[in-house]
Amino acid sequence: MKVRIVGAHQCETAHRRFTTMLVDDALAIDAGSLAGGLTLEEQSRIHDVLVTHRHWDHVKDLAGFGYNLLCGHQTATVFCTEEVRQAVSESVLSPRIWMDFFSGPDPDHPVYQHTRVEPEVRFTVGSYEVSSIPVNHSVPTQGYEVRDAAGRCVYYTSDNGPGCGQFWLAARPDVLITECTYSNVEAENAARHGHLYPGALEEALTTFQDGAGYLPRVVLVHVNPFYEERVAIEVGEVARRLNASIDVGQEGMVVSV
Ligand SMILES: [Zn+2]
Ligand SMILES: [Zn+2]
Repeated sequence: MKVRIVGAHQCETAHRRFTTMLVDDALAIDAGSLAGGLTLEEQSRIHDVLVTHRHWDHVKDLAGFGYNLLCGHQTATVFCTEEVRQAVSESVLSPRIWMDFFSGPDPDHPVYQHTRVEPEVRFTVGSYEVSSIPVNHSVPTQGYEVRDAAGRCVYYTSDNGPGCGQFWLAARPDVLITECTYSNVEAENAARHGHLYPGALEEALTTFQDGAGYLPRVVLVHVNPFYEERVAIEVGEVARRLNASIDVGQEGMVVSV
């Protein structure tokens, strides 16, 4: 399995994009940079999109990606909770500012087929087995464990805050992709908004290691660029203390699982 980090940040700039990951070129997870981070040809190969929660930086490009599909006479299946679908239909896909691709523009053949996800369920997407794993964030959020036919497994936790390690124990990944939005200097702010900083990441990884008996390779996304340098230094210290492999993800990074 090959996971490409299309967007690795919590802010959007000329060189940084909101969170999106691409599994084997065909299955996308989150839509922060699903249009802006990929060529039309790359977008045309995506048939399934897993969405974790309703925040702007994870759903924004459902508008642009859907429009590109419409122009290319294609459709896609979007997997998310009913709560997320409703929020997206009422905001980024509101007919007041754009088109609701879940119901149109042709009501008989909408651009997006919605497959409803519930917390803590297992379902099949193409050749993958996917599990939804709820985590502690400021709004309802499902992380996804994705296992391929060969048994290789990546787990993307999505946004989550201090204490998330107990939720991660529902997964047994080869690669764990999680967030580290802030540095330790912003610990209080991070906790208030349901985000991780290196200190809370270390605690969560320790919880996982104690419960699962191992530590997978870790890749971090959703880094706030204002804290990026500090995060890299502090995460390096965590990796040394835990004797763990922890990479800070970047746009374009390809992770072999
Ligand atoms: Zn969020
Ligand atoms: Zn986010």
